[in-house]
Amino acid sequence: MTDSNCIFCKIANGEIPSRTLYEDESFRVILDISPASKGHAIILAKKHAENIYSLSEADAGKIYLVAKKVATAMQNVLKCDGMNILQNNGEAAGQTVFHLHMHLIPRYKDDKVQIKWTPGTEAEALSQELMEEIQKSIKE
Ligand code: AMP
Ligand code: ZN
Repeated sequence: MTDSNCIFCKIANGEIPSRTLYEDESFRVILDISPASKGHAIILAKKHAENIYSLSEADAGKIYLVAKKVATAMQNVLKCDGMNILQNNGEAAGQTVFHLHMHLIPRYKDDKVQIKWTPGTEAEALSQELMEEIQKSIKE
């Protein structure tokens, strides 16, 4: 359920103090220690899951409800101009802490946050074969 070597397990379950915006039986939402923008928060699952692939269906179903609740309150108070909600899986995707978390990053006009990609070309297009393979491997 929790991993004794995992810092986010300890924070999520209150063993290490944190600046908590919200807590329920499954999640704790804390302020990020190195905020990308004013109010940057992260939603931590209380049960250890490294990433979305191993997240329980119950937690997967609930995490966006928490995101909506907290993001709405943040927007009301901070009056931010936008909000990025994102979640990194794997080192290649920028994950640095291997306990699932979702970022809530308030955005302000002309801020310095960079979440961008260059639109791809034919080279990035997925083949029909791989597309069908993914379709088949999706489990209900
Ligand atoms: P990611 O790169 O998606 O794995 O995000 C990890 C995030 O956790 C980064 O934004 C870090 O600043 C943040 N972080 C790491 N350690 C702590 C901590 N002890 N308390 C709060 N946020 C943390
Ligand atoms: Zn953990």
